[in-house]
Amino acid sequence: MRAAIFVGQDQPLSIEDVEAMPPGPSDVVVTVGASGVCHSDLSVIHGYVPLPPPTILGHEGTGVIEEVGPEVVGLKKGDRVIASFTPACGTCFWCLQDQSNLCEQSFAYGMIPRAKRGDGSISSTFTGLGTFSDVMTVNQASVVKVESDLPDEQLALIGCGVTTGVGAALNTARITPGSSVAVIGCGGVGQAVIQGARIAGAGRIIAVDPVELKRKTAEQQGATDLVDPGQGDSVSQVQALTGGRGVDYAFEVIGLPETVVQAYGMARRGGTAVVVGMPRMDSQVTLPGFQLFYDEKKLLGCVYGSAQVKRDFQRLIGLIETGRLDVGSMVSARIGLDDVNDAFRAMEAGEVIRSVIV
Ligand SMILES: [Zn+2]
Ligand SMILES: [Zn+2]
Repeated sequence: MRAAIFVGQDQPLSIEDVEAMPPGPSDVVVTVGASGVCHSDLSVIHGYVPLPPPTILGHEGTGVIEEVGPEVVGLKKGDRVIASFTPACGTCFWCLQDQSNLCEQSFAYGMIPRAKRGDGSISSTFTGLGTFSDVMTVNQASVVKVESDLPDEQLALIGCGVTTGVGAALNTARITPGSSVAVIGCGGVGQAVIQGARIAGAGRIIAVDPVELKRKTAEQQGATDLVDPGQGDSVSQVQALTGGRGVDYAFEVIGLPETVVQAYGMARRGGTAVVVGMPRMDSQVTLPGFQLFYDEKKLLGCVYGSAQVKRDFQRLIGLIETGRLDVGSMVSARIGLDDVNDAFRAMEAGEVIRSVIV
């Protein structure tokens, strides 16, 4: 099999032939149909999330099951599946609280050896997936069977960006009809937050991004107002659009402490700020103490859109199939596995919403 492997901080991924390790009794082998190139993979390359190399990257993908282990339940060869970057084991404390996005197996699966390289070294996979490959072996808890005729490139995006963004709006924030929303950072996940806000019936959706392509795409996806941080303080611009109060819900979809503070500043008194972006592991966020008390704002963390993947993947498919969620327009580029390093360059240059390996 071929795979794109993280071999060291700030080095290009190595695209090479590797030998798959034999699947375990609870594993499934999946032929990967499509894989999105997400910013979190880039965070690994830059060392923001410390991960020991070698590791096959990619955590947003879809495919078809080729083989199941003897202890696999409810999945069979030929099933169409979307990979889930946190497993949903179904039996741990969190899964039993309907919080499978916090499943306790999340780290364990990422440590499993999955491929042998030409030099004899053994590679694991990012989040237990490794979708930057043509075939992946994963625990059965890391895939969700879905029924759909949608193209692979759209189903792949449900695996991370769409679920994270739409879930942040519908599950984490629970946006109410008519409310006001600001979204800081309009890449793939930010666009999905905007669409989630639109689906929830938000009255005003303010997209905040310095890149014109992203603001224009945001407008197509439901944003009613566009803010360019290059034109002055974005918190003041958002307040000016909301009678000086700020918005009911502000989403940070970049993962930087300064934009988390901005999202908190954009939320109105009694409003809600949601941290959707993934900050560096060593980062700290400093907030004004008196306001934290007096303004009674809520600050919410949000991992994987607070999604219950076994429930939400098929729900999202329903929204796409009925035309209420537009995932097709989020796909900016279709590329081969060999082009993945260039896809990261395009991402950093702000040239794309999402590149998808097909
Ligand atoms: Zn992702
Ligand atoms: Zn679990």
